[in-house]
Amino acid sequence: MIEKEAMYKITYGLFMLTTTDGEKQNGCIVNTVSMLTDTPKRIVVFVNKSNYSEELLRKTGIFNVSVLTESTSFDVFRQFGFQSGRDVDKFEGGRYETSENGLYYLTDCANAVLSAKVIDYYDYDTHTLFVAEVTEAKTLSTEKSVTYEYYQSYIKPRPNAEPPKTEGKGKWVCKICGYVHEGEELPEDFICPWCKHPAEDFEKVG
Ligand code: FE
Repeated sequence: MIEKEAMYKITYGLFMLTTTDGEKQNGCIVNTVSMLTDTPKRIVVFVNKSNYSEELLRKTGIFNVSVLTESTSFDVFRQFGFQSGRDVDKFEGGRYETSENGLYYLTDCANAVLSAKVIDYYDYDTHTLFVAEVTEAKTLSTEKSVTYEYYQSYIKPRPNAEPPKTEGKGKWVCKICGYVHEGEELPEDFICPWCKHPAEDFEKVG
């Protein structure tokens, strides 16, 4: 058997992935950046195909990884994680630095930035695995890198802190990001519009 809970025991970091369509830049939050080889410096990142970033990465092949710190606010996750770059310019109005490859990276809540160039990519149904060569790497601060577990415990708003008012109608709350879906029934194939998690990660309230 495969216990879903056992899979949750794997540790992850959290990163902002910057990509470009040639003109506009896009950023998304990923938890799947790892170093593949030390000499030369190669990294891997897996990106869900429903993310606009996945399409941009296949097309342009360059990206930045901002390593997020424990001081990253939920607003950053909301801005970059819970909406699509297809619909909005996520960097509009923000203040960001630019690395040698011309892409933005975060400075306030990142302790390092890695720039990389895709050398291979592999298709795995829902996700694409990108292998990339690091072209620039810079330390930005001594703050601690945030883990996915830290995010879950200390950054993400507690769903129970403010239970949504039901007003007679059923509501379903995403346990991952707090998105609220109104309705008695939640369709089996429902996908959270914010965090892209499936219906099984929702719980009924009220
Ligand atoms: Fe969600």
